[in-house]
Amino acid sequence: MDPQWIQSIVEQVIQQLEQKDPAPKPKGIPIAVSARHVHLSEQHVAALFGPSYKLTKRSDLSQPNQFAAEETVTLAGPKGTIERVRILGPSRKLTQVEISQTDAFKLGVKPPIRQSGDIKGSAPITIIGPKGSIYLPEGLIIAQAHIHMAPSDAEHFNVQDGQIVQVAADTERPMTFGRVLVRVSPSYRLEMHIDTDEGNAAFIQKGQIGELIVDGKPVGCSSSATSSSPVPMNSSEPAQPLKQAAVFEGKLLSQHDIKNSSEPIIRIHRKTIVTPLAKDTARDLGKKIEVIEA
Ligand SMILES: [Zn+2]
Repeated sequence: MDPQWIQSIVEQVIQQLEQKDPAPKPKGIPIAVSARHVHLSEQHVAALFGPSYKLTKRSDLSQPNQFAAEETVTLAGPKGTIERVRILGPSRKLTQVEISQTDAFKLGVKPPIRQSGDIKGSAPITIIGPKGSIYLPEGLIIAQAHIHMAPSDAEHFNVQDGQIVQVAADTERPMTFGRVLVRVSPSYRLEMHIDTDEGNAAFIQKGQIGELIVDGKPVGCSSSATSSSPVPMNSSEPAQPLKQAAVFEGKLLSQHDIKNSSEPIIRIHRKTIVTPLAKDTARDLGKKIEVIEA
C-alpha cells in the first residue's frame, strides 16, 4: 500500500476521534485584546448624554450580556485628550475607565494596574460627552491581564478564582505574560484579556491561543507533564542543551502533536511516520522536525 495513503487515512481517523469527543477540553487560552474603553454608571450616562438616555448596542462582546455601545466619549487629562473612546454596556454601579500605558502618557496621567472593579484610590480623569462632562476623582486604571473562565474550565486547568498564573503566546514575537489573574464565574466564557500595549508588544493576532503556565509548568497542553496524551513529549535533549527541542516517542507524528509541542524543534526516531498535515503545520508554525540518527 502507498504509505502516503495510509498516512492520510490515519490522519482522518485521528481527526474523527477528536471530533467525537463529547466535551472537548480546552487545551489553551484564547487571547483577546481589549482597546481602551469606558464603563459608565446610569447617573454618568445621564450626565454625559442627557437625562434618561439609554445606550445603543453596537455589537455583542465575547462575555455573555456584555456589549459595545454606539456611543463614545472623549477622555481629557493634563497633557492631552483621546477622542472616540468606546463605551461598554450595560451600565455598572461605578464608572471605570480602562486605558493603556501609551494612552496614559498621551493624557499625562498615572493610572495603576488594577483588576476591573478595584478602583479605590485609582487615578482621576475627565470624561466629556455630547451633553456634559464629568470629573472622576478615581476610576482610571490600566487593566491587569486576566483570564475569564467558567468553573468547569477552572477545574480542567486546576486553577482557582484569584490565582495568579502566566500565559505564553507563541507568536512572531513570542512572549510570556506574567501576573495574569484568573477570574472564575459561571457567567464567564474562557478568554484572556490584555490591553493594546500588551497585544502589540507580543504581536497577538486574532484567534491567538496562549499556553497556561502554573508554577512554571504548562497546563492543559499535551506537551506538559500532566498530559492526558498517549504520546508524551520528552523535554530537552541533553546533547544540545541550548536548542529547545522535544523528542517525540510515538510512531506517528500528527498535526495535533506539532501544534501542541511548545518547542521549536521536534526530534523523531527514524521509524516515526510524519503525516503530510504535520509537515505542513510544522512549516507554517516555523517548527523543525529532525530525525535522530541512531
Ligand atoms: Zn475582561
